[in-house]
Parts: sequence; structure tokens; C-alpha cells
Amino acid sequence: MTPPKTRQDWECLAAGLSLPHQAFIDGRYVDAASGQAYDCISPIDGRVLARVAECGARDIDLAVKAARRAFDAGHWSGAKPVHRKKVLQKFATLLQDHAQELALLETLDMGKPIDDALDVDVAAAVRCMAWTAEAIDKVYGEVASTGADELGLVTREPLGVVGAIVPWNFPLLMATWKIAPALAMGNSVVLKPSEKSPLSALRIAALAIEAGLPPGVFNVVPGFGKGAGEPLALHMDVDGLVFTGSTAVGKHLLTCAGQSNMKRAYMECGGKSPNLVFADAPDLQRAAEAAASGIFYNQGEVCTAASRLFVQRAIKDEFVARVAAAGQRMQPRHPLEPGSPMGAMVDEDQTRRVLAYIEKGRSEGGRVVIGGERLETVDGGCYIAPTIFDGVEHGHTIAREEIFGPVLSVIAFDTEEDALRMANDSDYGLAAGVFTSDLSRAHRVARKLRAGSVWVNYWDGGDMTAPFGGYKQSGNGRDKSLHAFEKYTELKATWINLAP
Ligand code: NAD
Repeated sequence: MTPPKTRQDWECLAAGLSLPHQAFIDGRYVDAASGQAYDCISPIDGRVLARVAECGARDIDLAVKAARRAFDAGHWSGAKPVHRKKVLQKFATLLQDHAQELALLETLDMGKPIDDALDVDVAAAVRCMAWTAEAIDKVYGEVASTGADELGLVTREPLGVVGAIVPWNFPLLMATWKIAPALAMGNSVVLKPSEKSPLSALRIAALAIEAGLPPGVFNVVPGFGKGAGEPLALHMDVDGLVFTGSTAVGKHLLTCAGQSNMKRAYMECGGKSPNLVFADAPDLQRAAEAAASGIFYNQGEVCTAASRLFVQRAIKDEFVARVAAAGQRMQPRHPLEPGSPMGAMVDEDQTRRVLAYIEKGRSEGGRVVIGGERLETVDGGCYIAPTIFDGVEHGHTIAREEIFGPVLSVIAFDTEEDALRMANDSDYGLAAGVFTSDLSRAHRVARKLRAGSVWVNYWDGGDMTAPFGGYKQSGNGRDKSLHAFEKYTELKATWINLAP
């Protein structure tokens, strides 16, 4: 279906939407057991979009019990892989059929530009679900190397009930990276979306049932971290806990897994990704545009944001001028306006947090090249100008901590060793980039960068065929690709005595 062409058309579509607001447990939309609900606010203009069920420990328990019943019944967990494949392929088709609606929910809920919500978030979620579905019946077990008197089988079995806790920056996509492989392997899932962006997760719960998932296999429990996330992490009948979010919460959830039933726990966390631009970069203009979109895309609210720009001193001033010009072209506009390069920050809290980092950058001696301020608009809302700090030192707060906003720290370097030392001197290790024409240097530097993804001469490459995840405090485990299945299965060895 051709997407609306103007902001007014999108607003018309939005006016006709009925926004999901109840939890989804055991195949039905229900209120929170306590009857409590909270305001789900749009960062575009501060409007209350819906009163969303505020789930607590009781709801989590009901959802886990429904998930366990569904798992034990075996209609999904014990189904032939080809059946699960057909159902998830239909799920992918339904996501595609509802692409505009889902994109609208994302934009209204968390403020990203509608084009990105449609062409990136929803499109990638559809690809993830379809790719994963297609892979289900391509996964084989192993036969161990034995003598003739025994047979050793190595098989993958679903974990059971998986709790998934996800963030707000790519609400549908981060949820899909978890639920697609979890469901593919036969698990039941209890998904807790971020309190800041619950709408798309709630909407797709009904699509999952329409696709043919049995009730109880996929549950969605909106609510806050402490009230809903923590009871899920501590639940004694949850077998696996998968998380995407901040490093601080990820660390805490690892202790919850240990304190409870030693559930399998995989955390995908924050980043402070270095982008190394050498004087011999093949095309400085393209490298500058990549550096700008690498930090300003999605308002800088990206785990792999290219937030530390290391530039070789000989080209530093020229390069920063080019990045600044590219950044100026990315000024935020109303997120429902097609072509908006940047939208609204997710909420007031995040806006204030980012502005505090900008003040810190100034006070520590960084020089603001562009931006550095909140933008006031006629609709109100949470907008920050693309911001570049030059003259940043490696030890400055804005060069070390994850800001999760449109703020770039530029640091000059002289030698390859210098650049690598500073790039790797970080608690994080999610992604990194290197721009150079020297093939040997590209390989050498890529190999030495301590990061789960390294991009050479561009930023943010990748698709479903390769794993995604972090080194160090950026997390453990991997999303995407066949490797994602490892998180959602136990390996079983079965030995059969063939002796006569
Ligand atoms: P967050 O850690 O604040 O929240 C993430 C989720 O955890 C939310 O659903 C929240 O409600 C829940 N939560 C918070 N406290 C909890 C608690 N005590 N117990 C259980 N659950 C709790 O993160 P955020 O602000 O939503 O997202 C931004 C972070 O996510 C950034 O650090 C970003 O780098 C990271 N992220 C990482 C990846 C990746 O793949 N590595 C992808 C996207 C975002």
C-alpha cells in the first residue's frame, strides 16, 4: 500500500487508530489485575495517547503460568518445525500488512521519523520474522562420533518459558529480535516492552494469534522496570531471560537470574562506539556523511551510535567542518512529516539527561561546533539540535559515558596505535568503524578493535545473516542469524546402547 504523502495524511490515519492499551495474557487483552494504568505520553507534543495497563507481579505470574501451560500442552513446543515455520511466516506477512499502522504507533509513542519507522523499523522486523521462520526447518542436530556399539545424538530443545525485556529506541524491532528466534525454537514468551513505548508490542500480540500461535505462547505485559520487569527476572518458573537495554539494568538482571533459579540470561546493553577516520579515508565527504548519520540517526538514540569520532589530526579541521555541514542538514522536524531527518527525543527525562551531558561537555572544555541546545517548536515536544563537540579529550565524561542522544564527541589522534588505544579504552564494545584506503590497515585495525561489529568504510552495515551483540559491558549473547537460536535452546546429549 502506498504510504501517506503528507503529515496531514498521517495525522488523519492516526486519528482513526484505536490504540491498544491492555495487557495480552493467555490469548486475551486484559486489564492489570490491580486495575492500575499509566499515561502513555507522545514526545511529539506531550499528548496522552492512551492509559496503558500497569502490570505488576500478579500479572507477571498469570502470564508465566499461561506460558507454562501452553508450553506443556505441546501444541507449539512440540509442533513440527515446518508448522512453526508456516505460522511465523504468516506472522511476518501480517506485520507487513499492518506496516503503516505499526509505524504510526512507533512514531507517536517514541518520536522517531515516520519514514524511518516504516522503512527501517517495521521493514526490518518483517525481514527478521520471515528470515527466522524460513530457517526453522534448516536447523539440524548432530550425531556424535562413536564406535559401532552406541549412538550419541545431540539435539536442541526449547528452554521453556522465556521472559523478554526490551527498550524504547526500536520498540518493535528489538522485540522481534527476541521473540522471532524464541518462538521459532518452540518456546513460550512473556514480553515486557518499555513503559515508554508499549503500543506496537501490544498490537502485534493480536496478530500473533491471527497468525495461528496458540493462546498463551506469546504474552505481553506492559509496565515499569521495577514493578513488571523485576518480577519477570526473578520468577522461579521462567527458564530464560533475554534483555536489551542499559548496562546498569543488564547487570542487575544478571544478579536476578542468579538470585532466583539460575535462568539462562542474555543481556544486550549499551555502547560508546568509536569511529576511526584516517587521513587516507577513500572519500572524505562520504565518510563525513556516515559520521553524521551514525550519530544523529534516530536522534542518537541508538545502541551503536557512532558517538566517539577519532580523526587523524592532519585532516581533523576539514573533516569536522564536513560533518558539521552534514549534521546541520539533519535538523529535527515534526516526525510525521515525510522526509524528517530527525524526530523527537523519547520523553522529557531523556531530553533533560542529554542536555545535562551537553552542559557537562561545555564545562569540561569541549567546544560546541553546532547545536548544543533544545529546540522549541509550535507543538511543544522534546527536540534537541544535532550537537558536535570538538576538542574533546579522551577522559572527558562525554567521551566515556553513553549519552543516548544526538551528541558527537570529536577526538584527534596522531597514530594508528593512539587511535586503537583510545578506541578500546572503554567499558563498552558494541560496534566500531574504520575509514581508510589501506587494505592492510583496514584488516589490522578491524581485528584489534574490541567490538562485536566492525564496519569498514561505512557505518551500520549488516542484515539477518550475521550475529549482532557486544563485547565487554555491551553484553553477552547474540541477536540475529542462526547464532540467535543458541540463546533459546538447551543442548541435549542422548546416548543409546546398541550392544547386542
Ligand atoms: P533501560 O535499561 O532503562 O530499560 C530497558 C528495559 O528494562 C525497559 O523495558 C525497562 O522497563 C526495563 N527495566 C528497567 N529497570 C528494570 C529493573 N530493575 N528490572 C527489570 N527490568 C527493568 O534502557 P532503555 O532506556 O529502555 O534503553 C536504552 C538502552 O538500551 C541504551 O543503553 C542502549 O544502548 C541499549 N540498547 C542496546 C541494544 C543492543 O542490542 N545492545 C539495542 C538497543 C538499545
